[in-house]
Amino acid sequence: MSVITRIPPSPTGMMHIGTARTALYNWLFAQHHKGQMQFRIEDTDRARYAPEFVESIKDGLNWLGLTWDGPILSQFDRRDRHAEVAHEMLKSGKAYYCYCAPEELEAMREKAKAEGSQAFYDRRWRDSSTTPPAGVKPVVRIKAPIGGTSVVNDKVQGEVVVNNEQLDDFIILRSDGTPTYMLAVVVDDHDMGVTHVIRGDDHLNNTFRQNIIYDAMGWTVPVYAHLPLILGPDGAKLSKRHGATGVAEYANMGYLPEAMRNYLLRLGWSHGDDEIISTQQAIEWFDLDHVHRSPARFDFAKLENVNAHYMKEADNQRLVDLVVPFIEKKGIKVDDLGRQRLLAGMDELKNRAKTLLQMADEGAFYCKSVPLDFDEKAKANLDPAVLKILAEKFNQLENFTPESIESACKDVANDLQGGKLGKVAMPLRAALTGTTVSPSVFHAAVILGKDEVLKRLSCIS
Ligand code: GLU
Repeated sequence: MSVITRIPPSPTGMMHIGTARTALYNWLFAQHHKGQMQFRIEDTDRARYAPEFVESIKDGLNWLGLTWDGPILSQFDRRDRHAEVAHEMLKSGKAYYCYCAPEELEAMREKAKAEGSQAFYDRRWRDSSTTPPAGVKPVVRIKAPIGGTSVVNDKVQGEVVVNNEQLDDFIILRSDGTPTYMLAVVVDDHDMGVTHVIRGDDHLNNTFRQNIIYDAMGWTVPVYAHLPLILGPDGAKLSKRHGATGVAEYANMGYLPEAMRNYLLRLGWSHGDDEIISTQQAIEWFDLDHVHRSPARFDFAKLENVNAHYMKEADNQRLVDLVVPFIEKKGIKVDDLGRQRLLAGMDELKNRAKTLLQMADEGAFYCKSVPLDFDEKAKANLDPAVLKILAEKFNQLENFTPESIESACKDVANDLQGGKLGKVAMPLRAALTGTTVSPSVFHAAVILGKDEVLKRLSCIS
């Protein structure tokens, strides 16, 4: 039987990093087994639904390169099918109508609370021969097992047992005929042929209830793997307080998708001590046996280091294409010449930058035109007297190379600054880049070209 996994996010917010990791694991597992990952939108909560949240999830999956098979399914669109299944269970005696009034339910809840019991519904209408009250629209409840225990053999959590006393005859169809979430998930997973349910462990409790529906319908229960939560560095549930939690935010901060994939893979799964794992390798290695049982802590510094690694590995032309939008976000128009210079300087830029954002900060000067804007530190370093003499020296250089530029700087340093090269190189950097942080100024000057360098120097007075 071929493996079918699924990613069924609820579009109630921007795509979260936890959803991204769940998607990655489902995708890797499916890829490993040459199976499929299907994509279903759990959009039944119409009050919280918004199309931009669906777009955010699609964008996030696309950015991470996680492909899905078949069309995107809408759970909301399948509500008639969910109701149909509830009616089948009514017919087979596995479910029943319940006509309880809100006050009755409230009283049951109070009683259960007083007795310290988790389940509250007293099964009043199960096997009841009472005539239904007139004018009351009933809900449909499923017959949960009475007595004994239920077991889930989870691939991550191991054997998990609950006492059936904790499981109510829960509602599967509301009085307005709409399906509950619990029913919809099971019907969809079954109809989609899902073989493996890999999801957050906040759904573990639902699993016992969902299995009651599988059993009532005589359907095969899927294999379950419940992933522990992602925590912040301090051990509390990962939240905005710790930093970015949305996938798009990481894209906007200039992380590469392959770095994010690698980082998320390791956030809860391991293969020996391997840290850098290519996607191809991950597909080959990924299994559920090595998913960690304890929650992972998000480590922002580690993500940055992983990203730095992938930046160094990335193709230079691709990096140019990726960094240009970050530079343009600063209000700098990048033309062909700017792109050429970025490409020429890319070996150095990519070795320095941990993110595309940092690369944009350090490489934007290639794309600027005179007069440059200077940041405060650069302004403080501009030394017009030094720069004027430097310009004269450069003007005489026949070969404009890093070596000849450096040697001209050394001469000026010896003449004017007691031999301190930094006192010449720093003003030059400030004049050429508008900042005080950049790749080697001698290399940068060559990439800018003699004419442009002289142009930039001539603006300083
Ligand atoms: N829609 C649920 C969520 O976003 C997932 C449910 C499931 O995986 O069964 O948390």
